[in-house]
Amino acid sequence: MSKRCYYEVLEVSREASEDEIKRAYRKKAFQFHPDRNPGDDEAETNFKEAAEAYEVLRDPEKRSLYDRFGHEGLNNNGGFGGFQSSEDIFGAFGDIFGEFFGFGQSRGGPRARAGSDLRYNLDISFREAAKGTEVELDIPLTDTCDECGGTGAASGSSVETCQHCHGTGTVHQNQGFFKIAVSCPSCHGRGQIIKDPCKTCRGRGTVRKQKSLSVRIPAGVDNGSRLRLRGEGEAGENGGPHGDLYVVITVKPDDVFRRQGQDLVLTQEITFVQATLGCKLEIPTLDDPISMDIPKGTQSGEVFQLRGLGMPYLGGSHHGDLLVEVKVKTPTKITSRQEELLKEFEKLEDEKPMKKVKKIWKKAKDKVMGD
Ligand SMILES: [Zn+2]
Ligand SMILES: [Zn+2]
Repeated sequence: MSKRCYYEVLEVSREASEDEIKRAYRKKAFQFHPDRNPGDDEAETNFKEAAEAYEVLRDPEKRSLYDRFGHEGLNNNGGFGGFQSSEDIFGAFGDIFGEFFGFGQSRGGPRARAGSDLRYNLDISFREAAKGTEVELDIPLTDTCDECGGTGAASGSSVETCQHCHGTGTVHQNQGFFKIAVSCPSCHGRGQIIKDPCKTCRGRGTVRKQKSLSVRIPAGVDNGSRLRLRGEGEAGENGGPHGDLYVVITVKPDDVFRRQGQDLVLTQEITFVQATLGCKLEIPTLDDPISMDIPKGTQSGEVFQLRGLGMPYLGGSHHGDLLVEVKVKTPTKITSRQEELLKEFEKLEDEKPMKKVKKIWKKAKDKVMGD
């Protein structure tokens, strides 16, 4: 059975952009996905065909080989020969929908290239942000194959130098008057040939897995803080370095404290009697509560600064401050005896020196009126 042209399979022109190819494949993949067409062999064939076409056309180097040499350019080397298992198809399928986890860029190219960076969204409590914490993350990713250590060769078998390009990964071709260097079609530019591919990763050197990672979240992190874990992203290809893992932190709000940079703010209600006479209060902090003196004659809205009791600065030993904002609560229900005392209090207020000012004012007014 002869293979159909990849461009025909995806119904795109030979000049189609990467984006057009991606969209075309997405459409086909949805249309022919085995889950949507149970027991339909033709749909499955179409699905595989589309996945294979996409695997080639999304990759600039494979695509240019295909454009120049057709299917032969990809097949005569024993390296790339379509998909060997359904896992491979879904691997490629997973790539295009890699946004599932908010992760990932498409993999591709046979040249050594760095692995993709990953993003992990982590929610922590306010107290965890204040004290720091250690979290276990389970991250689905493409990682180095443990079985072969990433070489792609079965244990005991060797990786041999590619005879076609003598290990350089590059061959020269005559193009009209020019001689140009292109990636070796035999080894995909690796410079090496794997005779007996690793069973676990089928020679890729990488596998999909769930990686458990213990991550230390430093004290003082804030909403939107990003921790970069070098080399904890996806495995690179053909010896390329691992990508990085970014842990993006969301701090849940606290019932007691509000955060202003590294300062903490809390609102403390006191009675008007406490405000007038002064009092001792127990104030919650990030650690144990502390005792604080509220001076006589404190006004509602006054803010007291407790130095060094705020959030820690990242990586330092300094802390922000704790700002205690005092709110005087006016009683809404009082007994008749309290009312009596307050009226008495008011009467006494009238006899305070303040009254003198009023008297002078009254005198001045009388004088004007009297004239
Ligand atoms: Zn392997
Ligand atoms: Zn080669």
